[in-house]
Formats: sequence, structure tokens, C-alpha cells
Amino acid sequence: MVQSSARPGAASRPVGPADAGIVASRLRDLHLDARTELDHSDAFELLVATVLSAQTTDVRVNQVTPALFAAWPDPEALAGAADADVTEIVRPLGMGATRARRIIGLAQRLVTEHGGEVPDSQTALEALPGVGRKTAHVLRGAWFGHSLLAVDTHVGRLSRRLGWTEQTDPRKVEADVVGRVAADGTGSPDEDLAVLGLRLILHGRRVCTARAPDCGSCVLVDVCPRIGLTQQAGVA
Ligand code: SF4
Repeated sequence: MVQSSARPGAASRPVGPADAGIVASRLRDLHLDARTELDHSDAFELLVATVLSAQTTDVRVNQVTPALFAAWPDPEALAGAADADVTEIVRPLGMGATRARRIIGLAQRLVTEHGGEVPDSQTALEALPGVGRKTAHVLRGAWFGHSLLAVDTHVGRLSRRLGWTEQTDPRKVEADVVGRVAADGTGSPDEDLAVLGLRLILHGRRVCTARAPDCGSCVLVDVCPRIGLTQQAGVA
């Protein structure tokens, strides 16, 4: 289906999936500031911060990581930390003891199996404590520059609303989005899956929220098959 790349003043509802090339271009213009919102200065800090971000927010993680990385700045240091000391620092995130054991175990494995380095390997990363496919994709996309989609709740919701997938399983969502970008894409750097994922997250936080999508001010209004329907049907 041919879709206009110009933002219209008013639009009828498209019947097919939103063109991924147009979506990537529009989100680039709107969310030029897209970057991981977890503060970090190296791959180790990004990996630990991403593991800590499970079931909490990036903002809260950023409140505890300065003290954490000041006390234990590298895998060797964190690997030798006492559980109780780390628990005290990460306690504000909830499940402090569990999070502490997880990141200490992660650091120990980095030391014993990877010479204290963060591996640029999907298989090696997913074998580490607390690291799943999404975390590995965040790390490898943001730090190592790979075009990998990290599917979180925002990426999943936006992908369904844009008609790119009907799936809820993150791996199936990822496969559908990868296929859609390959089919529609122009080869623009904006279609790098890590970059597109970050922009989808920002759009999901700022405009296309779960409960109150602001279709009236959305730059995707003319290409989105869910315009208006989401609010009427209460569909996430
Ligand atoms: S805000 Fe509305 S038009 Fe924009 S992507 Fe979400 S559902 Fe579609």
C-alpha cells in the first residue's frame, strides 16, 4: 500500500500495517534524543544497570548506580563485594537481596569466564545471571552498535498498534518487526533496529501510552491502523 510521507492535517484510518520506513523517518524527526536512559560510562555499567532495571524504572536505577559504581567500579571489584553491602545500596529498587546476589554473580562470571570483559556475544551474555534476550539486545545495540531490537512493553504495544504484529510473545514480536522493516525499509540508518526500538519506547512513553494514546497529536496518525480504535475499544 502506498502511504504519504507527509504529515497530514487530518487522516482517514489506514487498513494495513504502517509503512516501517515512514514510521522510522517520522520518529527520527520527533525523537532525536533517543538513547538508553540508563546512565553508564562503559559496557559493564550498562550491563549491570540493565539487569537492575528489571521490574523497576530507569530513573530509579539511575538513583542507585552512582553509589554502586563508586564503590565497585569494575567486575573484579563487584565480584568480591559482600552481599549485605550491595543489598544496602540497591534496596530502594525493591528485592534488594535478590538484585545484589544477581549482579555479584554476574560480575563473578564476567571475571571467571570472560577475563573481566563484557562479551559481545548473544549466547555468552544470555548465559549470565539475570541476562535474557532483551537485556543482551539492549547491551549489544547500545554499546556494540548491532542492529538488534529489544522488545519491551512499549515496543510490543506500538508494534501491535501499528499493525506490524498480532503477537504478544517478545520473540515473535521481534521476528514480525524485523520482517516488516526488511519489507518496507529504505536502508536508512533510522531503520537500525536498536535505534528504532529506542524511538518506539519514547513514543510509547510520551504519545502512544498504554491507557491514553494521544492520536490527535501523533505524527503517525495517517499511517496507523489503530488511530482512534485504541481509545474506543480500550485495547492495549
Ligand atoms: S498515538 Fe494513536 S495514531 Fe499514534 S501510534 Fe498510537 S494508536 Fe497510532
